[in-house]
Amino acid sequence: MTPPINENLIRDIIQEVLERLGPTGASSSNTQSQKPATTQPASPQSCPCSQESPDSPKKSQGRIGLRGKFGIFQDANEACEAAQEAYLQLSEKGVAGRNTVVRIVKDICSAKAVEWGKLELDETKIGRLDHKIEKLLGLRAVPGVEFLNPYGLSGDHGITLEEYAPFGVIGAVTPSTHSIPTMACNIISMAAAGNAAVFNAHPAAYRCAVTAARVFNEAIYRELGIENLACIIEPPTLESFAAITKHPNVKILCVTGGPGVVKAAMSSGKRAICAGPGNPPVLVDGTSNLDTAARCVVIGAAYDNNLLCIGEKEVFVLEPFFDKFMAALEKQGAVRLTDAQVERLAKEAFPTPQSKSGGPSHPVLNRELVGRDAAVLAKIAGLEVPASTPLLFAETGPDHLFVIEEQMMPFLPVVRVKSVEDGIAKAKIAERGYKHSAMIHSYDVANMTAMAKALETTLFVKNGSCLAGLGNGGEGYPNFSIATTTGEGICNPRTFTRIRRCVMVDKLRIF
Ligand code: NAD
Repeated sequence: MTPPINENLIRDIIQEVLERLGPTGASSSNTQSQKPATTQPASPQSCPCSQESPDSPKKSQGRIGLRGKFGIFQDANEACEAAQEAYLQLSEKGVAGRNTVVRIVKDICSAKAVEWGKLELDETKIGRLDHKIEKLLGLRAVPGVEFLNPYGLSGDHGITLEEYAPFGVIGAVTPSTHSIPTMACNIISMAAAGNAAVFNAHPAAYRCAVTAARVFNEAIYRELGIENLACIIEPPTLESFAAITKHPNVKILCVTGGPGVVKAAMSSGKRAICAGPGNPPVLVDGTSNLDTAARCVVIGAAYDNNLLCIGEKEVFVLEPFFDKFMAALEKQGAVRLTDAQVERLAKEAFPTPQSKSGGPSHPVLNRELVGRDAAVLAKIAGLEVPASTPLLFAETGPDHLFVIEEQMMPFLPVVRVKSVEDGIAKAKIAERGYKHSAMIHSYDVANMTAMAKALETTLFVKNGSCLAGLGNGGEGYPNFSIATTTGEGICNPRTFTRIRRCVMVDKLRIF
């Protein structure tokens, strides 16, 4: 897509060219020895402005090589340069500018929810259109600038203010499971806090993110004159990730994904906010309404074909209530598989590749089945079900691969347990120490407390679907980056700030 040419852009370019040529520019423009204006500085070292301080205001006036890109860069170093410039431009626009960015991103996500939901589904082939649309519409509730209330102190020695200041440029990695929604809510949170960002999207979900980034940047440029606030690499590679992590303009990282990217970010040498993997267990102790529990479990586990990191991935049910709960799942439209059907599905879902050394090999998750429809999985299991089937389920043992692996597909293993203690112990093993999310269906406060203490998860939902943990059916705000591994929790504008203290000694206290 060609960026629209408008008067502001042409004016910026002409002004930039004249500035570069200097006061004698008009006459020297025909001189052979005149060096052409450098277009795309590949690195901070080769940048023609490298003698300046990287934070100097002059740099924020814009560089010609970065014009007309609207955030889309093939070169990660250029993207980091452009984002730095955008960060400085955003600083000049003040709090009003940040509010404008937040409004623009939310409005566009609402207006484009259907179009972009389809775009993402077409590219990734995973998940469900209705939920992809809902995820984009739900971004309206992501907190903005209002979340940054400074902390004030007042006493005999004057007043002190602790402010939430921006870092500058943030390097961000987004997952295949919610590409545009994660990028959009990252932009909202990061820009609300005064930052710019450079994104490395998942290679299987980057085209839709590039489209969205261009639309965001064009709209931000039209209102604020900032072209590259949310930069993205096209196409993303491991090399571009490495370049982003190494670039001096990038002050922190925010990665959302599985164990591989979390490890890579944490060994990069930069501070990393890591929204890592999960395998959320559910405990049903029989003290609450089993139909409600089953309804909530189906809503959460079937959502976007189980792509949510917070989504219910396995259920532990106390023995006396097991059969009733299984029947309740069927009442909610979920389809039960036999043992043989589960094993047929498991063989495809967790194939064991040939080991190169000829030694023992381990089953690995078949990414081809992640986020596919329940009807597709049923077919593999040897069963025809209506296309509208939200979820498959079956009884399995606690050690089954479907229980201990984060399968991200609409098949839910249900495990019979002897007691609450047994259920909590097995849920803890299944959660694998990710400290991500867990759910309980119970009216017994002691059971709730015991499970919360044992699992120590970032989200713990009682008597609701996992979605309630992100404000959908429960109190709270949403975000698609839940910093589990590094402990920042559900990301919000404050996550992307550094705290600065301003102290006035003995004066300005007004009483
Ligand atoms: P993934 O780990 O395959 O990819 C995530 C991102 O990391 C992608 O952009 C990918 O290109 C990149 N990546 C992977 N390995 C990398 C490496 N070694 N170096 C640099 N970049 C690398 O995950 P996915 O399938 O896209 O997403 C699903 C995973 O993400 C699940 O584990 C899920 O739980 C997790 N997730 C977590 C959250 C959260 O908020 N905690 C949100 C969404 C997804």
